[in-house]
Amino acid sequence: MSTNEQTIAFIGLGNMGAPMVANLCTKGFSVRAFDVSTEALHNAVKLGCDAATSASAAVSGADVVLTMLPNGEIVESLLIDEQCLLEVIPSGALLIDCSTVSATTSLRVHQHADSLGVQCLDAPVSGGVGAAKAGTLAFMCGGTLDAFAAAQAVLGAMGANIFRAGDAGAGQTAKICNNMLLAVHMAGTAEALQMGVNNGLDPSVLSEIMRKSSGGNWSLEKYNPYPGVMPEVPASNDYVGGFLVKLMLKDLGLAAKAGKASSSKTPMGDQAHALFQQLKDSAEDAEGKDFSSILKIFQ
Ligand code: NAD
Repeated sequence: MSTNEQTIAFIGLGNMGAPMVANLCTKGFSVRAFDVSTEALHNAVKLGCDAATSASAAVSGADVVLTMLPNGEIVESLLIDEQCLLEVIPSGALLIDCSTVSATTSLRVHQHADSLGVQCLDAPVSGGVGAAKAGTLAFMCGGTLDAFAAAQAVLGAMGANIFRAGDAGAGQTAKICNNMLLAVHMAGTAEALQMGVNNGLDPSVLSEIMRKSSGGNWSLEKYNPYPGVMPEVPASNDYVGGFLVKLMLKDLGLAAKAGKASSSKTPMGDQAHALFQQLKDSAEDAEGKDFSSILKIFQ
């Protein structure tokens, strides 16, 4: 079967899942999608996929199943404990979980999948909504070489950089290391920008100077936290959409646990964790804003 003849089931059509589905459809894959939110499902249909009536209907008979869900509790409930989707996914099919969850959750999913003859890959992503729309995500995969090889065409339709971090769960470990660093440099970037503004600098001019100097980093390059510096990022749209504060807090919690379990010293990650918690506690709607709103802590 050529890869484009594969039937793909996609579950979780939020900020990331919807643009990922759009790229799969544009590249000629046939996608059956499901989300518990009717609005998200309707929006995804406009992007070119078919709507399934349930998660179970989506995965039934599928060759590849992709999940892009908020957290590990939902992933385990959907795949193993409540809806038992792994028992509906055909033996021999490939499950790719792109959600960011703990390596422990991921290992549990891999073990259940193995016992049912379903190939499995943990494949969390990086790059944010911009890269999801552009089809340039980075995928950090954990699983067997065979599963990694089988996933190439599908992941290649949504991403530009596809890494195998190691065996089952290794993709998730790479992802939380990356996101702990992201939290640190986003908080540091916001702190530096606000100090510049407080001392009379124009945030756009300061951003350009730091971007081209030794302070340059991804937050300055692609996701400036100061409103009005970059037109297309959440900071210029009242921090709506993007990568929510509650999801960053989830990732920092996962990083803290992994750090503790491995006796790693993570003072920078701990500080970033405390700042994002302070941001969440600062207003009722704060956890539903994009994580670059960490700038508000410094204002
Ligand atoms: P989101 O909250 O926008 O979307 C999640 C979607 O899952 C929602 O549409 C929700 O209705 C759906 N959902 C929840 N429970 C479900 C269930 N039981 N069955 C079917 N659908 C269900 O989240 P997002 O920003 O798209 O993030 C998804 C994952 O990607 C998270 O694990 C996040 O940490 C990770 N991630 C997000 C970003 C980002 O920039 N937003 C970047 C990298 C990784």
